[in-house]
Amino acid sequence: MPSGIYKCLSKISEQIIANKDFLTELDREIGDSDHGINMARGFNAVMEKLSPDENDIGAALKKTGMTLLSKVGGASGPLYGTAYMEAGKVTAGKTEINVEDLKAVFEAAIAGIQKRGKAVKGEKTMLDALIPATEKYSQKISEGSDIVAALDEACKAAREGVEYTKTIIATKGRASYLGERSIGHQDPGATSMALTLEAILDYLKTK
Ligand code: ADP
Ligand code: MG
Repeated sequence: MPSGIYKCLSKISEQIIANKDFLTELDREIGDSDHGINMARGFNAVMEKLSPDENDIGAALKKTGMTLLSKVGGASGPLYGTAYMEAGKVTAGKTEINVEDLKAVFEAAIAGIQKRGKAVKGEKTMLDALIPATEKYSQKISEGSDIVAALDEACKAAREGVEYTKTIIATKGRASYLGERSIGHQDPGATSMALTLEAILDYLKTK
């Protein structure tokens, strides 16, 4: 039986790989047409590296992060790589995660992305999906929602964040070179982040 974390990371990989062309198309509009290619390359490598019987969530996330760091060029490799590495630190030695642990995972991922990329909310990046999603998730669990219900709401917030990226100017990364011309286009990294959260939800719903 594959471990839970293996199944969850498999879902994320499938989701990213299935959306490779879409993510690349979004990056063609405001970047250099490689976001889907970068992410798919990274997650193909992750699936080669991960062992189905690895059940230490922290170890699997760390391996994922290191693989993304080493295999993915562009801005997104180091950013996602650091996010997974930091998420691995807060889950080290755990074989299951509860509702609070998942909040810690998201918060660690945000901190990692910000440590590397120095972006804040509203700069048209992956954080415009992850920050509102994490805020919504935290709110829902403090109201007593279970993990699936809270993540379901968080995914909706992530999608709203993706929509919001269409309305703002990019001030970080390659898209910032376009200035005002970046308005009207949805951010590829915010989109891959929303897809990632949806894959985690999908895994939690079917487990
Ligand atoms: P590159 O821009 O080097 O070609 P990708 O195309 O793979 O890399 O990734 C682009 C995505 O990376 C953007 O859509 C954006 O979401 C994200 N990104 C870029 N710079 C930053 C940053 N400083 N902080 C957070 N995310 C960023
Ligand atoms: Mg690119």
